[in-house]
Amino acid sequence: MIRIEFLGVRGSVPTPGRQTLAYGGNTSGVLISFGNSPHHLFLDAGTGIVEAGNRLVSRSEAIEGRILITHAHSDHIQGIPFFKPLYQPQHQFSIHMPEQAGQNCEQVLKMLMAPAFFPVSTDAFNAKISYETQQPGTTAYPEGYSVTSLKANHPGNTFMYKIRIGDTDIVYCPDNEFIPDDKAMRSSMFDFFEGCDLVIHDSHESRLSYEKKRGWGHSAWEDIAELAYEAGVNQLYLTHHAPESTDADLDQRQQALSMMTRRPPVALFAREGQTVELNS
Ligand SMILES: [Zn+2]
Ligand SMILES: [Zn+2]
Repeated sequence: MIRIEFLGVRGSVPTPGRQTLAYGGNTSGVLISFGNSPHHLFLDAGTGIVEAGNRLVSRSEAIEGRILITHAHSDHIQGIPFFKPLYQPQHQFSIHMPEQAGQNCEQVLKMLMAPAFFPVSTDAFNAKISYETQQPGTTAYPEGYSVTSLKANHPGNTFMYKIRIGDTDIVYCPDNEFIPDDKAMRSSMFDFFEGCDLVIHDSHESRLSYEKKRGWGHSAWEDIAELAYEAGVNQLYLTHHAPESTDADLDQRQQALSMMTRRPPVALFAREGQTVELNS
């Protein structure tokens, strides 16, 4: 059994408040867990990861984890300094990130926790940690899954990840601008999505708002729903909601999405705390 939990579905900046209670205000994060395995696979480390860390340390078990970060924009890493398992010696993590402006994964996290920004450095982490600078291509891991990394269309060096567990494919792509009339991009994204069981994708914009935000690095949700439908995706979860998208806005978008004929069988705007289970 593969369990996917949405820890944070907001893009850009945490957005707590009365207007985001239903969908949630924490920034990007997903946790994939595998039956009774002690291994935990985290996708991004926005503020959503903090509560998951608190929950994990309240149990007594040692955690083995991998944290795959798509890029170092703050909404994808700002939970790291507050992720308690990193400070406890019984746990073990590998943290992965593509190179960011000439800095490797370890250097980026050291900058995040430099004295100007945070009271303790990464030297305060007591868990056994390895830092990996993620490369494009596919890597098989001993925990029983492989990860394929592909460059996204987003400012800086941003990756999207495809996780293959047995015959099950899950795509995580929270920041990516899909340009529907770019044939080469359409073809490479189609190939990446094709036949996937579950795709989690950027839906920061709508077709209406996208017209004014071309080149900003985010997709219109309608375009992603159609592409996922064409590529035979079974379940689509739209994420990275704009800070200005209220619960009422997202409910409206959900209604419109549910009315579309060209969308995957399951097509939902993701909510913080939502879980999905897949049989592997
Ligand atoms: Zn983002
Ligand atoms: Zn970004």
